[in-house]
Amino acid sequence: MPIPRPDRSGSHQQQFRINKKKIYATQTVCGICGKPVDFSLKYPHPLSACIDHIIPIAKGGHPSDISNLQLAHWCCNRQKSDKLVEKQVFDQSLDLISNRILPQCYDWKNF
Ligand SMILES: [Zn+2]
Repeated sequence: MPIPRPDRSGSHQQQFRINKKKIYATQTVCGICGKPVDFSLKYPHPLSACIDHIIPIAKGGHPSDISNLQLAHWCCNRQKSDKLVEKQVFDQSLDLISNRILPQCYDWKNF
């Protein structure tokens, strides 16, 4: 076994593994579809347990913080990634529309 280097990815991987164990020990329901996760199913079974990043790392989510991790089915996690790509495109078009409708002078910071 190689000794893990104390670099950033190494410490994140270690933290991720610890939090993954915690989630597997405390959570039983998929955070995406809300159905129970069967821990006897193993990857590559589509309903096997996996850890989902609530906010994807690519979107600025924390790679290993437990507050950004949840239990999920492997297949739900895959579908979520696909949806996020679609949602991103949708959000961008919404912004374009809302910029025209909303008054330009309104100070949203007071909200
Ligand atoms: Zn699910």
